[in-house]
Amino acid sequence: MQSYDVIIIGAGPAGMHAAHALASRGQHVALIDDNPAAGGQIWRGVNNKSIQPARAALESPHITTYYQTRVIATLASQQLLVENPRDAHLLHYRHLIIASGARELLLPVAGWTLPGVTGIGGLQALVKAGMPIANKRVVIAGTGPLIWPVAVFLRMHGAHIVAIAEQQSLPRLVRFGLHLARYPRKIWQAVGYAAQLIGVPFMADSHVIAITGTTQSTGVRIQRGDHQFQLTCDYVAIGHHLVPNLDIAQSLGCDTTPAAVTTTGLLATTIPHVYAIGEARGIGGLDCAIAEGHLVAAVICRDTSAITQWQQRVAHERQLATAIAATFATPATTPLADDTIVCRCEDVTHAQLQHARDWRTAKLQQRCGMGPCQGRICGAATQHLYGWGPDAVRPPLRPARVATLALLQTISTDVE
Ligand SMILES: Cc1cc2nc3c(=O)[nH]c(=O)nc-3n(C[C@H](O)[C@H](O)[C@H](O)COP(=O)(O)OP(=O)(O)OC[C@H]3O[C@@H](n4cnc5c(N)ncnc54)[C@H](O)[C@@H]3O)c2cc1C
Repeated sequence: MQSYDVIIIGAGPAGMHAAHALASRGQHVALIDDNPAAGGQIWRGVNNKSIQPARAALESPHITTYYQTRVIATLASQQLLVENPRDAHLLHYRHLIIASGARELLLPVAGWTLPGVTGIGGLQALVKAGMPIANKRVVIAGTGPLIWPVAVFLRMHGAHIVAIAEQQSLPRLVRFGLHLARYPRKIWQAVGYAAQLIGVPFMADSHVIAITGTTQSTGVRIQRGDHQFQLTCDYVAIGHHLVPNLDIAQSLGCDTTPAAVTTTGLLATTIPHVYAIGEARGIGGLDCAIAEGHLVAAVICRDTSAITQWQQRVAHERQLATAIAATFATPATTPLADDTIVCRCEDVTHAQLQHARDWRTAKLQQRCGMGPCQGRICGAATQHLYGWGPDAVRPPLRPARVATLALLQTISTDVE
């Protein structure tokens, strides 16, 4: 079994900066991610000047990277069971940092399972992976700050953005804009996005009520005040802001809320030697994730002057996170028709879930959340739609090979 001073789960911006800052203080670090390279959501598939220094910083003899590696179980005695495409093994840590990031909140609406409908970040990821988008007509809808960089990205790749339909009202968006005044870099970013999207119709207070099409999305029906109208398009990118990935924290027994792993100001969770940073600590954006990567390294190494410096920076960035949450974190839901699918892995409809009391009975009676995504999509959606809390998290955290499950069984039996 390999043993490390610190294991970091998640090689996004938060985990990458934590790894580098720890290694430069002499700590032996393991950095785990299920993607083939470091970068997380924002730098997925990117290999330009913006990411190269952060990736190069990981080439330290003090850092061991485990890519294409998933955490399958968190075990007693500060161990993790991980699996890569070849085998599975155990890793031991003195300190564990959860930098597991976030995913999009996808809320059901009529037609959302049609081919051509994706999340906002999902469409960006497909295009980064090589899907041609030039000359395709795209409607971007839902809510959240992700809309803007993705709209710019798609336009730069030749997409025709038919319209941006944001749920939030204009006064609410203006209030959010006023918060940005304290973040000059964000102001410039916002101005840059606006300049690159000149000519794209932007509609606030606009809710998607249905996506139309029979075998492929061909359009989207939107409600704006008392008025309904139809837009024609090839792709609909619809997402409702982000939700943190909490499964690892929950399997360790850390306290969580639906919005974050609960931590102290020094990023400690409620479980000793376990820390949470970046989006796992609440949606705060890139700069916040980076600052928390530096802060956690200073905390673990007891570097008091760096702690003070980075704590101030994190406090500043977290104020923006509060404004982001106040503006985007509670998207409105469109009333669902009975036949709208809620769990798209197992084809469970809204009507079928009306008899379920909670997430557990929905799983047991209807197989909601029992498919390949293991509730990563419908779990957050049902929490939002019906107020169901999550079930206890049990291993395996991700679908695993039989040999890995057998190893897990052996370890569990040995512990008993
Ligand atoms: C789909 C999507 C697209 C985005 N696009 C943009 C954008 O274009 N511009 C922008 O400014 N912001 C974007 N964001 C927001 C941006 O990702 C964050 O602000 C920032 O990257 C957060 O960094 P992080 O390190 O906290 O998390 P992330 O970047 O999310 O990194 C977390 C990493 O943890 C890994 N992980 C999680 N669980 C496990 C596990 N069990 N085993 C192994 N690895 C695991 C994930 O694969 C991921 O690589 C996007 C977010 C999402 C969800």
